[in-house]
Amino acid sequence: MDCKTAEKLIPKFLKNECTDKEEILLLEHMKGCPECKEEFTIQLLLGEGLNRLESGESFDLNEELEKRLKVKRQEKKPRRRLLSSEGQRILADIVTGAIIVAVIVGLLLWQIH
Ligand SMILES: [Zn+2]
Repeated sequence: MDCKTAEKLIPKFLKNECTDKEEILLLEHMKGCPECKEEFTIQLLLGEGLNRLESGESFDLNEELEKRLKVKRQEKKPRRRLLSSEGQRILADIVTGAIIVAVIVGLLLWQIH
C-alpha cells in the first residue's frame, strides 16, 4: 500500500468503515511509515477534539482514547472478524503514541480555549 491509499483509508478507518483487509493493510503500512502513523494520530485527535469543541462539550482526549480502545476491544459483531493479534498489537502501539500526542494537543487546545 502506498501513502496516498493509506491517507484515504485513515478517515474511513476512524469511522469504522474499512473492510478487514483495508484495516490490516492500513495498520501494516503505518507500522513501517511514521508519516502515515502521525497523520492517523492527528486525524484521530483533531477529529474528535474539534467535534467536541464545536458542540461545546468538554473534551478529555485521554478519556476519549481509552473509550475508543474499550469499544474496539468489546466489538464482537459476529459478521466482523476482530483484528488479528498482530493488528491489535500494532493498534496498541499506535494508541500508546497517540496518548502522548493527546497530552500535547490537549494542552494546545486548552490554551486556545
Ligand atoms: Zn505512508
